[in-house]
Amino acid sequence: MTPMAGAWTVRAVLEWTAGHLAETGSESGRLDAELLLCHALGVERLQLYLDPDRPLDESERAAYRELVRARARGAPVAHLVGEREFWSLPLRVTADTLIPRPDTEVLVEQALGHLPEGQPGRALDLGTGTGCIAAALARERPELQVDAVEASPEAAAVATDNMARLDLEDRVAVHTGSWFEPLGDAVYDLIVSNPPYIPEADPHLEAGDVAAEPREALAAGPEGLNAYRTLVPAAIEHLGPGGWLMLEIGWDQGDTVSALFEENGFTEVAVHRDYGGRDRVVVG
Ligand code: GLN
Repeated sequence: MTPMAGAWTVRAVLEWTAGHLAETGSESGRLDAELLLCHALGVERLQLYLDPDRPLDESERAAYRELVRARARGAPVAHLVGEREFWSLPLRVTADTLIPRPDTEVLVEQALGHLPEGQPGRALDLGTGTGCIAAALARERPELQVDAVEASPEAAAVATDNMARLDLEDRVAVHTGSWFEPLGDAVYDLIVSNPPYIPEADPHLEAGDVAAEPREALAAGPEGLNAYRTLVPAAIEHLGPGGWLMLEIGWDQGDTVSALFEENGFTEVAVHRDYGGRDRVVVG
């Protein structure tokens, strides 16, 4: 690694770090550098562009250097800054939660398409993690009451905190437990989940940021299908007439998971793609 030459201005620091992080294996070196610098300086991203010649003082440099070192060693940016944006909502993230992904916004879009505006309703988010899906639905549909279930008590605490920060705690109730277990015989208009779906032996689990995320949120048995095999049959018992189930899937699971929906009595089953053109959500 070549040390940085010249003055430590915002512009120079970003250029140098973007290159350094790309060399150490990040696929988003420039964005990583910007998010880490914002965190070290306590400013919004726009500020980096408005004042690119702003010099960094000694303590800012020290704080930033630590963040860049940790990132170069493989820590996810979301863990280092403690936050990730999803559906334009800032969500607190820790090592106990999955880091919200843009792909999951497709699930939110599908859900909103099935939740008419201005009508009261009940939605359920299973395996809520940070609470990102539940928060997005509650924010977009002010009449909706949302239950969010999370098996990890540590992740459930993060979700609860996120609802308070977003002023959604009156409409999103976070429950700790396994899938439907904490809900009794409650019935919903819409059930959504981004469950674990990666096969246990998939090398993806050891790669990049994924390696630093909770395994329980990602891996689901030898074929990645264990969560679906539990959720799909159980969901039928918790859907009202005309209710919808929507599950995020891996790119190659569309056929298998839609067949599972149909075997369990779901109709109007459809697979929807993400912005990368890959199958991402099954609806029924
Ligand atoms: N899409 C995520 C990934 O590939 C996995 C999310 C999940 O298992 N629910 O890293």
